[in-house]
Amino acid sequence: MTMFRSARRTQDTGPAPEALRLVKVTRTYGEAESAVTALDGVTLGLARGTFTAVMGPSGSGKSTLLQCAAGLDRPDSGIVMVDGTEMTSGGEAERTRFRRDRIGFVFQQYNLLPTLTVAQNTVLPLRLARRRVDGAHAREVLTSLGLGDRLGHLPEQLSGGQRQRAAIARALITRPRVIFADEPTGALDTRSAREVLALLRRAVTEHGTTVVMVTHDPLAASHADTVVFLADGRLAGELRAPTVDAVAERLAHLGDDAPLGA
Ligand code: ADP
Ligand code: MG
Repeated sequence: MTMFRSARRTQDTGPAPEALRLVKVTRTYGEAESAVTALDGVTLGLARGTFTAVMGPSGSGKSTLLQCAAGLDRPDSGIVMVDGTEMTSGGEAERTRFRRDRIGFVFQQYNLLPTLTVAQNTVLPLRLARRRVDGAHAREVLTSLGLGDRLGHLPEQLSGGQRQRAAIARALITRPRVIFADEPTGALDTRSAREVLALLRRAVTEHGTTVVMVTHDPLAASHADTVVFLADGRLAGELRAPTVDAVAERLAHLGDDAPLGA
């Protein structure tokens, strides 16, 4: 890990920047009386090569947090920095370019294009970014995810677990700095879920990727290095080296008046 980081650094300018930094990120939906503050001044920093789970009750702002951090949505105020570079507050096109260069996203419902094969879905982000498509690399990634014999299959010919693995291949293909996953195991059986979690972990250990995963499952969260809790759009504490029991315990008390463990 350390070797990987220092090998990639070209300038002697102090410590490597964090993979992700949010400063007072706020996102409100709707207007006036019907306005909902989905994120309320969230400040958060994540080191490179870490695996973080985001948990909290339904409606607490987890998806909004991921979408804002990933550049799929735009905060009303606050700053998002990925790998030391501020996400442009410019136009949609700029934000899209920024996202394509640095970020991968995995969705609960896979979001594969039904008319494209597994291989075509996987290299789609490269095509969209007009980057060179390295077929051998794509095959290698898919093979390492256990899909080497499914390259020409359509999504509908795959199981849920295989579809999610194809979606992970698509997220990995651009070698992003950060992968965001919103309930990636939410639609999967236990065994497929475990495979997906192991693959996300491998992205961290083998490529130094930073992974941020929303989940409501304490078992899934226990695969992460740290769990951060959200309640009502605000951070409500974190748990390092989470165990299933510790996560469940924290979740059960999140609604309490003193959520920060006071
Ligand atoms: P979570 O993922 O934790 O369930 P969300 O981030 O999806 O929470 O939602 C946080 C809050 O913002 C909720 O009250 C939700 O209803 C609201 N919200 C989310 N997306 C929208 C939207 N596009 N329009 C209006 N309200 C939204
Ligand atoms: Mg959500």
